Amino acid sequence: MEQSAFQNEKLAMLGKIAAGVAHEIRNPLTSVKGFIQLLQNDLIQMGKEDYVKIILSELDRVNMIIHEFLSASKTSPPEKKAVEMSEILREVVLLCQSEANLRNCEIISEMPETLPRLMVDRQQIKQVFLNIVKNAFDAIEDKPGKIFVGADIEAGSWLRVTIRDNGKGMDEETMSHLFEPFFTTKEKGTGLGLATSYQIIENHNGMIYVESQVGRGTTFTVKLPLSDYERQAIALA
Ligand code: ADP
Repeated sequence: MEQSAFQNEKLAMLGKIAAGVAHEIRNPLTSVKGFIQLLQNDLIQMGKEDYVKIILSELDRVNMIIHEFLSASKTSPPEKKAVEMSEILREVVLLCQSEANLRNCEIISEMPETLPRLMVDRQQIKQVFLNIVKNAFDAIEDKPGKIFVGADIEAGSWLRVTIRDNGKGMDEETMSHLFEPFFTTKEKGTGLGLATSYQIIENHNGMIYVESQVGRGTTFTVKLPLSDYERQAIALA
């Protein structure tokens, strides 16, 4: 618990710093872009049209990076509503299907037809599952891979979702840093996917954990508490 509280604080603090820095960078960027646009005609007349294009597109890129960074590190409180969980999971599988085809990968759904309705922030919970599946794709690399998405009820109290891949797996060292903000082993990774996922699940009073074996694959498990109503309905059934 202490560890996760520390991680949450660290992420919240980084979010604040990021918001401040992004704000400070955005203002000068906007004025640079404005002045370049004013100079655009002169530069074109000087035969420097290509330079203008590059400057403007690079400025747009910096803006986009700031935007992505901000949305990844933002820790907004969940807006919880009753959501049919099988709907979210089906959406996730559907959204990842074309990526799976491209990557020579199979997504296999192992879910019951219906699952309980839970009080969750639909977008945030969907984002968690998408982050985990995206990592599974990356772990599978180029070999023909399989990703299993399963869900069941555990001990009459929890909805348990498991996402299992047969990718490269990870060692103990990697696993011990997995949920830390900015921890990544990828060349173009941000290291924010699992840190934000961890925080989202914690804000829903749930749990997220991982089991992995190098060369064999990884299983992420997310557990979310059932509402009292769902718990009673299951107990009576
Ligand atoms: P990023 O994807 O940007 O690196 P994440 O926070 O999503 O950030 O993941 C952190 C790290 O956890 C990854 O760089 C990778 O080393 C490891 N990881 C996450 N999921 C898996 C997986 N399914 N298989 C192997 N390694 C994984």
